[in-house]
Amino acid sequence: MKIGILGAGQLGRMLALAGYPLGFEFTFLDPATEACAAPLGEHLHAGYLDEAALQEFCGGIDLATYEFENVPQRTAELVAARVPLLPGPQALTAGQDRLGEKQLFVDLGIPVPRFAAVDSRAGLETAAARTGLPAVLKTRRMGYDGKGQYVLRSVADFDAAWAQLGNQPLILEAFVPFEREVSCLAVRARDGAVRFYPLVENVHRSGILRTARPRAADPLQALGEDYARRVLQRLDYVGVLAFEFFVHGGGLLANEIAPRVHNSGHWSIEGAECSQFENHLRAIAGLPLGSTALRGESVMVNFIGQAPALESVAALEGVHVHLYGKEPKPQRKIGHATVTAPDAATLERRLAALQVLLVEEC
Ligand code: AMP
Repeated sequence: MKIGILGAGQLGRMLALAGYPLGFEFTFLDPATEACAAPLGEHLHAGYLDEAALQEFCGGIDLATYEFENVPQRTAELVAARVPLLPGPQALTAGQDRLGEKQLFVDLGIPVPRFAAVDSRAGLETAAARTGLPAVLKTRRMGYDGKGQYVLRSVADFDAAWAQLGNQPLILEAFVPFEREVSCLAVRARDGAVRFYPLVENVHRSGILRTARPRAADPLQALGEDYARRVLQRLDYVGVLAFEFFVHGGGLLANEIAPRVHNSGHWSIEGAECSQFENHLRAIAGLPLGSTALRGESVMVNFIGQAPALESVAALEGVHVHLYGKEPKPQRKIGHATVTAPDAATLERRLAALQVLLVEEC
């Protein structure tokens, strides 16, 4: 089976790495000159709205998927008219606009932080009256890794926030003093079968994910699964979906969904029976889903901006390195490592040994 992937970044690369053992082949479409999945398949180096390139892309594949949620709607329509596009275009629509996403959660009875749309400078005052302060002003579209966000602590911050973000549709959200951040990674097959990975505890700094650790028997597992299942069913979803939550007051508040494999699921390559990447491919290819059970303790650590020397990190027991072949740049995810261990105490020791080698940026 030949699978087309819109986007050829590290998620496309890891999808391909998971797909080759199953006998799949891959074609990527990505305008980037530095497309790190390109060595793993055919790479059509073209824009997402280049209709001739999209025709060529679709002509050589059995089905298509994507590795980023900002695929233009027109691209999704053009692809979906020719080959199955999974998850479907409705999943992209749901994940692209933070306001629509929040409204979807509200419709489904999933709790969210207080929020309000902001379309003008005056609207910012009205929205803040609804959310209270502190609050986070975010672009409705295209934000990632904390980009396009401004934390408002008092009215004195409004002008600066507006100067930075005010030329586009925005949303204001109450700042949640969360106890933890967790994500629920779910996968739904073409026949509607659903599996969930254990909830993952995520640590962000400056809006960027630093570590992700699956927790066996998290007390919020059933609630996370319930909320994720509602979204999967509403969107008639096929593939892996990541649902990020704030843990607050012992319950879950929905932050956002990503209609794709996700950074908080990378540990599953070594830490689960079947990784998020393989399960995404199984789901879209119409195969039975693989087990989401843990294979022991694990934690993923992102390499941001710089990776530790390979000779040093490769010498550590239970540390599995993934370098994406990307040029190091400040704030850029250029790889990760998953630390595995048979028990929690050994995991902590191995993680500490890795952290000594990390060159940390803020
Ligand atoms: P996002 O791109 O919305 O996932 O935001 C990136 C990170 O910023 C989150 O994972 C949180 O650590 C932080 N953040 C975003 N929104 C809020 C909020 N409303 N309250 C507190 N922290 C937030």
